[in-house]
Amino acid sequence: MLLKYLKQLNAYNEKVINYNYCLNNIYWDMETETAFPPKAVEKTSQVIEFLSKEITNLLVSKDTIEMIDYLTENNKSLTPIQKRQVILLNRAYNRASKIPVDLQTKYEGLKIKAQSVWVEAKEKNDYSLFAPYFKELIFYNKKFIKLLEPKVHPYDILLEQGEFGMTVEKLDKFFDVLKKELIPFAKATIEKLESINTDFLFKSIPLERQKAFSNYLARYIGFDLNKGLIKESEHPFCMGIEPNNVRFTTHYYGNNFISSIYSVLHEAGHGIYEQNQDSELEGTMLQGGASMGVHESQSRTFENLFGRNYYFLKGLYPNLQEIFPEIKEVSVEAFYKGVNKPENSLIRIEADELTYSLHIMLRYEIEKMIFEDKIEVDELPKIWNSKMKEYFGLDVPNDSKGILQDVHWAGGMFGYFPSYSLGNAYANQIIEEMKKEIKLDEFLEKGEFGPINYWLREKIHRKGMLLDPDDLIKSICKEELNPYLYINYLKEKFRKIIEMNTDVSN
Ligand SMILES: [Zn+2]
Repeated sequence: MLLKYLKQLNAYNEKVINYNYCLNNIYWDMETETAFPPKAVEKTSQVIEFLSKEITNLLVSKDTIEMIDYLTENNKSLTPIQKRQVILLNRAYNRASKIPVDLQTKYEGLKIKAQSVWVEAKEKNDYSLFAPYFKELIFYNKKFIKLLEPKVHPYDILLEQGEFGMTVEKLDKFFDVLKKELIPFAKATIEKLESINTDFLFKSIPLERQKAFSNYLARYIGFDLNKGLIKESEHPFCMGIEPNNVRFTTHYYGNNFISSIYSVLHEAGHGIYEQNQDSELEGTMLQGGASMGVHESQSRTFENLFGRNYYFLKGLYPNLQEIFPEIKEVSVEAFYKGVNKPENSLIRIEADELTYSLHIMLRYEIEKMIFEDKIEVDELPKIWNSKMKEYFGLDVPNDSKGILQDVHWAGGMFGYFPSYSLGNAYANQIIEEMKKEIKLDEFLEKGEFGPINYWLREKIHRKGMLLDPDDLIKSICKEELNPYLYINYLKEKFRKIIEMNTDVSN
């Protein structure tokens, strides 16, 4: 019997992996500059719907339920990899079986419509266009929550999708610390560093040279271009179709070459995680990231903890100046300060390392109010604007630069934003451990990424989805989520930059 069900598990995996492979190729085509004729949209949507339904039907089928039940009862005879698959299958089944397929299908259709309305609303700067869809998206999510688990905090159910084990209780504590520590520190630091010059970051630089540098940079930090590629899209993203087929995008601006450099570092960070999966996980559903937060910890590590590290930039700088002679006269110290200058800004995706999590905190507070039934959709712009004033001291000039700026809510992604901040915090906890074992700054200065990526692979990447995020972090750091390492890192880093800045100006 065991053998029969293990064979069935393999057959199930093969089907779902192949369906997802097709789906991801379609998504990639739609999102990137690959030729995609407008008239192809309708048929493509049908194919997406068909494949998605096949995956759900397969999961909730009688055969699969029998298999899950048998393997759950007889899990003592399973290997750790098989055991883990059964646990995750149980979770997926629980979710899928409680939400009627029709309801889910209607919701998928609503999301597609809502996203196109959101684009229009943002362009026309008209929140009232999007508000009815926003209400409906929230309505569906509240309904799902009731069907799934009416007893816990409704937001916990949303969190569970991206960050298993995360709860409002833990996040409240996390953001309370950030609020208390980070807001006053950021405010004072921004004032002290106002004099940093960043003009040279906005010089006009031909896109061809920027593109050449992207490939160089991705390879420099250990992204394998034999198992991946880089293209362009409006908003950069990474897609791990499988470890030998990892793709990401960036966006080039003629007069802001830094933007693409940091997008490449961020997305390649995601990509390296996807490429470094253990071959033992091949053919299972365990390839990928432990959670959204852990995935984000890897991208933020490459973008900020490495990419905005003084020693990393010092090592990279001669090559950077060679490709971009426009900054020949700029010292590495001035460059370092320039790419680290903190500012109060309206837009999350343009926010710097110091203020980034405050943007997330604002969104978390609003989402919580929505799902605790404490606010109406029509009031949201007002709440958004007042929080921007409170945390950043900024007046929001219009809703496109306020409540309408992110695509997440239009795409039904509620409870997703916290993973960005968790990523920042996890990244710092993980790097603290790495520094105990290897001389990180020395390797960063020499551009030797072999030992760095080996460490990350052993501790995180190769494990795919074998562990829940909490357990993975505990296995590396011997403790759970801890916001203080993140805050202390920011305080120490920016105190040094203030010192550096004072030395120069005196
Ligand atoms: Zn990311």
